[in-house]
Amino acid sequence: MHAPSLPLSFDWEDWWQLCLPGFSEASRFEDRLARATDLALALCEDLQAKGTWFCLVDQAQRHPELLRRIQAQGHAIALHGLDHTRACDQERPAFLRWLEEGKARLEDLCGAPVLGFRAPEWSLRGSADGFLEDVRASGFRYDSSRAPLAVLGDPGWPRQRHRRPDGLEVFPPPVVGKGAWSVPLWGWGMRTLPEAWLRRQLRLKAQAAAGTPLVIHPWELDEDQPDLPADVPFGHRWSHRAGLRGYGPRLRRMLTNFDLRPLEAFLDLGTLVP
Ligand SMILES: [Zn+2]
Repeated sequence: MHAPSLPLSFDWEDWWQLCLPGFSEASRFEDRLARATDLALALCEDLQAKGTWFCLVDQAQRHPELLRRIQAQGHAIALHGLDHTRACDQERPAFLRWLEEGKARLEDLCGAPVLGFRAPEWSLRGSADGFLEDVRASGFRYDSSRAPLAVLGDPGWPRQRHRRPDGLEVFPPPVVGKGAWSVPLWGWGMRTLPEAWLRRQLRLKAQAAAGTPLVIHPWELDEDQPDLPADVPFGHRWSHRAGLRGYGPRLRRMLTNFDLRPLEAFLDLGTLVP
């Protein structure tokens, strides 16, 4: 029997990179990206998995050697942004420039075409809802920026991979449940909900909606990271910290026997919902 297949993705950013005022200044925080990247690369090796790493250009410039190591292990590079700014906090012309510059600079840094984009904090929402057109116009083949969840997006958005009329392929992150009871199968959801239930949900996703990407932040594997500052809102601090202890072993248990591949491997598979 074939192992169920799922796309695997990492949002490559450091532990402190929240979308909040004052959190764009790297000098304020301990740089732990090398450690987190090592942990995530080791996880991939143990699972014999390849993934797509959505990278920030500011971090790729700070750590070109880490970018090279990610590529050398056979993973795909996509864009998370020029920096960790929400799309919905930008005016549309500025977003377009930010996106185009991000793509061009990341392609220079990694020496390969960058096909995919994921906005920081699922932020092609609200006032940025229509910005998806700019993603296609900037030369991307696919987008993974819109979470079908009330808190971070819109529960009415499709939960399955689909192709837009302009040809852009869309990979929504995995969500389970109805209405107010919907939960994300990433972040705090993957770290705290019962393992057997999560594993069953991932298997169902692999069968019914192949193309729903797993989402991991390398910093989630770094158990010894500092606490976020006390003035960060409680909800952010909770969703950042809950279930960090033991997450690496948990992922190794849950994801064994899945065939994990980059999102790029799921393009043009011919099973898209119109
Ligand atoms: Zn991010």
